[in-house]
Amino acid sequence: MKWTATGTWTLVARDLERLEVGRVLEEEPLWRHTSFRIGGPAAVFLEPRGEAEMVRALDWLSSRGIPLVILGLGTNLLVSDRGVRAVVVSSVRSLKAVTFSGFRIRAGAGVGLVRLARLAQAKGLSGLEFAVSIPGTLGGALVMNAGAHGSAMAAVVRRVTVWQPLKGAETLDSAAFEFDYRHSRFQKSPEMVALAAELWLEPGDPAAIQARMAHFLEYRLHTQPVGEPNAGSVFKNPAPLFAGQLIDSVGAKGWREGDAEVSTVHANFIVNRGRARAIEVLTLMRRIRRAVYQAYHVLLRPEIRWVGPPEGGAGTSWENLWYAAGEGLTEPSA
Ligand SMILES: Cc1cc2nc3c(=O)[nH]c(=O)nc-3n(C[C@H](O)[C@H](O)[C@H](O)COP(=O)(O)OP(=O)(O)OC[C@H]3O[C@@H](n4cnc5c(N)ncnc54)[C@H](O)[C@@H]3O)c2cc1C
Repeated sequence: MKWTATGTWTLVARDLERLEVGRVLEEEPLWRHTSFRIGGPAAVFLEPRGEAEMVRALDWLSSRGIPLVILGLGTNLLVSDRGVRAVVVSSVRSLKAVTFSGFRIRAGAGVGLVRLARLAQAKGLSGLEFAVSIPGTLGGALVMNAGAHGSAMAAVVRRVTVWQPLKGAETLDSAAFEFDYRHSRFQKSPEMVALAAELWLEPGDPAAIQARMAHFLEYRLHTQPVGEPNAGSVFKNPAPLFAGQLIDSVGAKGWREGDAEVSTVHANFIVNRGRARAIEVLTLMRRIRRAVYQAYHVLLRPEIRWVGPPEGGAGTSWENLWYAAGEGLTEPSA
């Protein structure tokens, strides 16, 4: 069966409804589900209501070879204006369980990271303070090894329960996930779905934990474009340098393509000033990348993840996107 054919997706949606694996929507606009407020429709959007429904849906989709994309809170995504011809499976209404056992927390991948940080604080558990200002789900944070203020998920994750095609669910030690700066094995294995994770924290004074979290939040208020739709840092820091400083130094703050604008507050953020399209964000990213490369011979790598078909050209990797857009820059060593 050809999954791109119109009509086929309606059949998939009907089958998913019959399976009773959650709320099913056709042609659901993905801008509604991303912090950037950008993105075309998902052929089918599925919102399972619990882990059992999620796993049944994943088993069914994979047994039929139907393309699927897992969506958390969409805070690290740039979704194509043409949308996604796949079943987009949202984790945010399923995978919500949280249990405490001593210094350990087991949480579903759909739990918000901010909520988890606050729950840990209330229990006098330290180690997740850095997460209080990261607006995604635990699942998205595992995929990205999200971090801030000198820490990251890798520091607290001990085990992760994943679902994989043909294998089903299994729990693996954190070493299996190759956590590195904004990187994990999930990024090389898009078919792997995080269901839950066990975090090990340390005992701490709730008031002191609360004070650290308040400090981190206060810092954000002054250094990031709070209140304007964005997807966090656009590019990774090319250690030991900082992407924001490099971008600022080439004068990019305020650069604009349509309604996409390089934030005047933090140069490594692009904000949506109204009805920005993905192609406009992509064009700004190319412009920034070229300017920084010309000035410093440093090639910035995107931190945000691209979803959906590129505007002209095949494949969905950033390299394909640069090429599809006529961008000739390659790695300096290439
Ligand atoms: C204002 C703002 C500030 C931010 N600050 C930070 C920061 O300080 N540090 C930082 O690291 N990031 C930051 N981010 C980026 C973002 O919040 C994190 O990357 C977050 O972890 C993404 O989680 P998510 O649920 O939104 O994932 P999504 O954006 O929904 O998805 C991200 C990727 O993970 C995959 N995915 C999601 N859930 C699962 C799952 N259960 N199993 C398998 N794959 C899955 C998706 O397919 C996608 O590839 C910020 C973003 C914003 C908007």
